Amino acid sequence: MNEGKAFTASPFVDAIEPIAESADEIARALEDAEIPPLLPALAYLTGDLSLLRDDLRPDPLLGSLPQGGLTDEQLTAARALALDVLIGFRDGIYAATPPASEAVLLRIMEHAVGQTGLAAYLPLLSEELAVHDRDGRAPDWSRGDIAPETDFTVVVIGAGMSGILAAHRLQQADIPFVVLEKDRDVGGTWLENTYPGCRVDNPNHNYSYSFAQRHDWPFHFSTQSVLQGYFADCADAFAVRDHVRFGTEVRSAVWSDAANRWTIRARDALGNDTMIEADAVISAVGQLNRPLTPDIDGIESFAGRTFHSAQWDHEVDLAGSRVAVIGTGASAVQFIPEIAPTVGELTVFQRTPPWLIPTPDYHDEVAPGLRWLYRHVPSYSEWNRFWIFWKMGDASIEAVRVDEGWDRTLGSVSGTNELVRMIMAAYIEAEFADRPDLLANALPSYPPGTKRMLRDNGIWARTLKRDNVTLVTESITRITPTGIVTSDGVEHAADVIIYGTGFEASKFLTPMTVSGRGGVDLHEQWGGDARAYLGITVPGFPNLFCLYGPNTNIVINGSIIYFSECGVRYILGCLKLLLSGGHRALDVRGEVHDAFNLAVDAENRAMAWGVSDATSWYKNELGRVAQNWPFTLLEYWQRTLEPNPDDYELLG
Ligand code: NAP
Repeated sequence: MNEGKAFTASPFVDAIEPIAESADEIARALEDAEIPPLLPALAYLTGDLSLLRDDLRPDPLLGSLPQGGLTDEQLTAARALALDVLIGFRDGIYAATPPASEAVLLRIMEHAVGQTGLAAYLPLLSEELAVHDRDGRAPDWSRGDIAPETDFTVVVIGAGMSGILAAHRLQQADIPFVVLEKDRDVGGTWLENTYPGCRVDNPNHNYSYSFAQRHDWPFHFSTQSVLQGYFADCADAFAVRDHVRFGTEVRSAVWSDAANRWTIRARDALGNDTMIEADAVISAVGQLNRPLTPDIDGIESFAGRTFHSAQWDHEVDLAGSRVAVIGTGASAVQFIPEIAPTVGELTVFQRTPPWLIPTPDYHDEVAPGLRWLYRHVPSYSEWNRFWIFWKMGDASIEAVRVDEGWDRTLGSVSGTNELVRMIMAAYIEAEFADRPDLLANALPSYPPGTKRMLRDNGIWARTLKRDNVTLVTESITRITPTGIVTSDGVEHAADVIIYGTGFEASKFLTPMTVSGRGGVDLHEQWGGDARAYLGITVPGFPNLFCLYGPNTNIVINGSIIYFSECGVRYILGCLKLLLSGGHRALDVRGEVHDAFNLAVDAENRAMAWGVSDATSWYKNELGRVAQNWPFTLLEYWQRTLEPNPDDYELLG
């Protein structure tokens, strides 16, 4: 009898259900299984390490292929082994064993991903897996324990993914806080981006809080409404909502050297300004929240309707209209296939083609058998998260690192990068094989990893091949009242223009103004080149903490939720440092910040996105990569475990 319980403290995970199904029914469920994490989960559960057969170990080079590249014979053998174990569970022959020792856990992890040398990852991965049935990243202290007499309040700006998380942790540490949110609900980017086809391009098992896992994701890559529902559910489950002032946009934050406090000015929904005093400010405003409308001649003259993908105008009826879309980035490649069947004519203006990652299950619901396994096999869902975390995480970063000796005229930056390029090029060539005219414009010439690679299940090529869709690659010269003119002199008539042109990502913390020690303005200090220590703290701006700040974006390896979880732990560590030491504020030392940024810049120059000339939102107007984290996920975790007091000047 299987009496194991879920290996997670998540409020969204019910107790694992006992198996009552017949052998045939279990075998049918196994047909839908994601195999690479299955035997590790069963080995973990039963303690039977003989399940970790060498001949069934995934090849790390093939990790991103369906089923980790395992052959049909390997899949059949793994399913047969799993069937025996699950029948054994059902019949009480097997029982869940006590938690594995670290050595055993490491052995299982290394088998799961087909790699060795993971010892340094063990504590990080234990947190990711939540193997100890608890939230390993929660603060293990509270203000009541270390400074019960100290008043200390925090303002969090933004109630999106990072803001909800920060609020939850502050609440756990018993630190009073208020969240100021410009929108009418929580969710941030998942609230605002309502364009058709909007969905996450990172599997949900990975793109979710480590401490709020779900076993019942409806899709592998869920839609905007599912994600928005998830973050709303988290805000409710963690009782964060009551702390949020909705419809309140922060205008400025001013530090007082005399009081060692911040004064925040915010405008409420009625247009009234309100002042709030706080000891610390956590900016959780995101990087991708200010839509970028391009600077094109005549843009104001257009007589039709226009809107940006992140401000989708659902009032505009596109049916039968002539629609022009500018951009073929992550947003546009999701909404263009959705609107193509309903519009009259669709003209797609592409400046740079995207690389496509073949992802057959991109739009698929999670199959019934796989859902059944998540409900009945303890730890399977968590091992699946680990498997995704690894293959999409540090296992993939080498594929975009520059080999100085490599001939970059090939369109790649290293041997591994070339392999990735060849796989994706072969995919695109196959997709457009019957349309050489489109293929010529659909195949990128820049190295993979220079820009975000986009998931595709075949829908992009099918859409561009439609009779009512035209791909235009001549550059845009101007917009007229009736359409868009390109460099060949052609005017492309349009009733509606949709800007899929991305965000002002490098303008961190805009449009608010922030004034720090000595009245120094943050944006003047940055001069268009935002930098922070660990993406979190900025010299001269005490007790100002950024989440998803400069150089914390990842291009290929991992989920931004991971970065926010690490960042919030670090910020809570800073607050603990203050409260336990009787200090009021901390200010990162300039030399620590500068040394860190030098190292980041050097490493970014050694990555595909750093060396390529292709345009991307990863570079600011000065050409510096101000967005991306170039090191491993492990390194960010290690560096943000707790603050080093020597890195900071302690005030008050
Ligand atoms: P984006 O990646 O910055 O793409 C903007 C597109 O507009 C690019 O094709 C760009 O061309 C084009 N463009 C910009 N200015 C132009 C101009 N003046 N003339 C012609 N074309 C112009 O923006 P996004 O698609 O909104 O995505 C931004 C980021 O949001 C993504 O990288 C991703 O991190 C995130 N995102 C994620 C998801 C998801 O998880 N599913 C979905 C959407 C967005 P160039 O390529 O030549 O610059």
